[in-house]
Amino acid sequence: MTQIEQAKTWLKDADNIIVTAGNGFSIMEGLDMLDDTTFDVEHSKTAKKYHVHTIADALDKKFDSWDEQWKFWSELIQEYSLDYEPSKTMKELRALLDGKDYFIATSSYGHFFEKAGFETKRIFDVFGDWTQMQCSSGLNHGVRSDVEVVKAYQKGQGSVPKCEDCNSPMELHMPLNAHFYPDQDANTRFRWFLTKNQDKKVVVLELGVDPTSPQLLDPMISLTSEHPTWRYIAADLSQDDLPDNLQKTAIGLNTSISNVIKDLKG
Ligand SMILES: [Zn+2]
Repeated sequence: MTQIEQAKTWLKDADNIIVTAGNGFSIMEGLDMLDDTTFDVEHSKTAKKYHVHTIADALDKKFDSWDEQWKFWSELIQEYSLDYEPSKTMKELRALLDGKDYFIATSSYGHFFEKAGFETKRIFDVFGDWTQMQCSSGLNHGVRSDVEVVKAYQKGQGSVPKCEDCNSPMELHMPLNAHFYPDQDANTRFRWFLTKNQDKKVVVLELGVDPTSPQLLDPMISLTSEHPTWRYIAADLSQDDLPDNLQKTAIGLNTSISNVIKDLKG
């Protein structure tokens, strides 16, 4: 049996599927936060003023004013999330998981899975979601959507959103500083999904996970080691990258996400 045939059999037999989607997945959906070839052209004023050349650098930067910050954030959110159209592969993944008991854990903050029509209750955005905002005071005053803020800024009518509890400026719901509060409800749902399925036939499908999101890699590898009924299918890793004790229960396909999904679906 070839690797892909084996992977298809595991998926067909699976009671539950966990998808881990990292930076490679974001890139496929159009958001490459480390790309330094287009930033200076698309955001020339910001690049010059703050000496930043990637989205990741720019998100880390404290701008001179909240207004300037929100103006810039709005450009990014509009371009990468509000104008986002799911890729062919994203649609194929949806078809692949349709009717299955699945959970998605992703480091992508671009709101892609929600927008592509996956069930919100089955998604944990580990690094937050920039279409949501949180209080900048450092206190956990909850999150709410920033989509209307973004739209207003894009029309030139924006104003800095304020916290309803303490009137501090709001900031993106992302780990840009020490006081990021992950979505506790989604985190709990994910942990519950892992716990209740520990003796079931679980397949972990790893898509585009790289060292920028170790939270999605190491824990899932160890869970697969601990649970004899679990299987692991990695798009990016090769068989040699996988631990010795997982050689029979894990497959490293070492190819692109789009190839993996196309082959698994076919
Ligand atoms: Zn507040």
